[in-house]
Amino acid sequence: VAWTTFSMRDLLAELLPWVQSTARDHGVDFGFDIADDIQMQADRDMIRQLLLHLVRNAIEAMDVGGCVNISVKASGEGVEIEITDTGPGIPYYLVDKIFDAFYTTKDTGTGLGLAICQRIVADHGGQIRVSSKGYGTTFTVSLPNLKQGT
Ligand code: ADP
Ligand code: MG
Repeated sequence: VAWTTFSMRDLLAELLPWVQSTARDHGVDFGFDIADDIQMQADRDMIRQLLLHLVRNAIEAMDVGGCVNISVKASGEGVEIEITDTGPGIPYYLVDKIFDAFYTTKDTGTGLGLAICQRIVADHGGQIRVSSKGYGTTFTVSLPNLKQGT
């Protein structure tokens, strides 16, 4: 992990063109919500990958339109990132499986996205959780945002 300090708002701004055009291609509305400009202490490139994997999954979950929202907020000593979609959700009995490498329900999926996300979050000393209640899915990533092991 290459720890640096960076602006989360700048990172989101950098991803926005890709996210907006991908969302548009899928007929999905996209919103984001970052109240304060959080200074992250993390590996910028890894956080970028993490966001891209989660947003791509959210958009891919919806064939018939819907909404994806990213929210980033400070929480205690850390940062909480939430990616929410209005897709079909994830059945409770698959919630553990989806993080396994090569588990995919897509014709052309690799099944690697969430395994990579889980690894990135673990490398940062954080947690990733998923909540889905039959309709829509929220992935919540909590990162400690403390510089470690410099
Ligand atoms: P891939 O996207 O290549 O299938 P991932 O590891 O990114 O691999 O995701 C694994 C599986 O988890 C997906 O195939 C899908 O079944 C499920 N999944 C992930 N994100 C969502 C989501 N937002 N809504 C519904 N299912 C999801
Ligand atoms: Mg994926």
